[in-house]
Amino acid sequence: MIFRHWAIGGTALAIGLAMAVGSEAAPAGGAGVASLAPQIIAEVDADYPRLDGLYKDIHAHPELGFQEKRTAALLAAEMRHLGFTVTEGVGGTGVVAIFHNGAGPMVLVRTELDALPMQERTGLPYASVAKAQWNRRETYVAHSCGHDSHMAIWTGTAKALLALKSRWSGTLMFIGQPAEETVGGAKAMLADGLYTRFGGKPDYAFGLHVGPGPAGEISYRAGAISSTSDSLEITFVGRGAHGSTPSLAIDPIVMAARFVEDVQTVISREKDPAAFGVVTVGGIQAGTVGNIIPDHAQLKGTIRSYDEGVRQRIIEGVRRTANGVAVIAGAPAPTVTIESGGMAVVNDAALTARTAVVLKAALGSRVHEDPRPGAASEDFSEFVNAGVPGLFLGLGGVDPARIAAARLNGETVPANHSPFFAPTPEPTIKAGVEAMVLTIINVMPPVRP
Ligand SMILES: [Zn+2]
Ligand SMILES: [Zn+2]
Repeated sequence: MIFRHWAIGGTALAIGLAMAVGSEAAPAGGAGVASLAPQIIAEVDADYPRLDGLYKDIHAHPELGFQEKRTAALLAAEMRHLGFTVTEGVGGTGVVAIFHNGAGPMVLVRTELDALPMQERTGLPYASVAKAQWNRRETYVAHSCGHDSHMAIWTGTAKALLALKSRWSGTLMFIGQPAEETVGGAKAMLADGLYTRFGGKPDYAFGLHVGPGPAGEISYRAGAISSTSDSLEITFVGRGAHGSTPSLAIDPIVMAARFVEDVQTVISREKDPAAFGVVTVGGIQAGTVGNIIPDHAQLKGTIRSYDEGVRQRIIEGVRRTANGVAVIAGAPAPTVTIESGGMAVVNDAALTARTAVVLKAALGSRVHEDPRPGAASEDFSEFVNAGVPGLFLGLGGVDPARIAAARLNGETVPANHSPFFAPTPEPTIKAGVEAMVLTIINVMPPVRP
């Protein structure tokens, strides 16, 4: 049973309790929780060899969305070993691990399970050489978004919270979510009863994402931190012919090329220049050999924005450009499919402020506020939009010396989805666990002695 009034009372109630029961109870909120930092850091240091092994194992064995069977089984076993009650197969390959520790709020902590259909080129000794089937094709698979580090942080956070279980009270709902990259996993878990089968809707939801910032740095931001995401698929239908007789053909490759160029004027000429908006064509498939003009070309892309008005304007422009390109070529109207993916992740303002105080007090200059939202999209928004105050933190993953060297050479550091992206494990994982444990204990009341 979940006692929601604990959560609503927040810091004030927790401090009141600490005062009532004397100095033995852990003071919750602000400096009280921050004072647990040395203990948390010691727990993480002791657990690090396990986390390092787990991280490198998962990194070397990535799996694609809804195929994460090995990964899910690995995490389920870790959590069972820690004493959680674990349910597998939630929303496909999802994992739900519950730990009750007295009265208090229920706190959701999320990691993703999935990797990307791409080849890793980091050259690391534990680099992935895995392959899998994706859209009826064989592809390499790699953890180039860093979800492997999130999984290590997730289990590390669970273990540290259990070691400190005399310092907090409430219920942990740790979830391993499938298919974040294709933005279907969060919805699938919710549709499979995540908020009904395991004790109800959580009181808070937390997650984080590693990125190309300095390893061990934590960033936060109230309000929107990621973009809405729409997937775009266009099929231009032409008329096939021999490559030597283009006048007998309607060339879909020329249509595709014209669309790729022209659609960027929707961004540069139609959208408000001050508003964020992106159209990217990330895939083109057409033809087989050099001397055949194919009869169709397929494009895949993504549309990003923060604002619904901007989003609608871009979608309208994309459709008009695709139709216009076909008209110019004398071709039939193309098929244009635009599907809404993730909505923007919006961090709860009060929860963000409350967490920032503790993280800054505990971790000092390693914690900073993000000046602006990112352009990536994230289906963590699904857990929050179902009516749960949430906070999604940023975590730097790159060795500061490497960042400095890149800056000196005028190069950019590889970021998420680059085949060269791989966080520096130890400082990244340790900081992630420290930040998550502090964040979670900060919303829990201290346990009665
Ligand atoms: Zn990603
Ligand atoms: Zn990701």
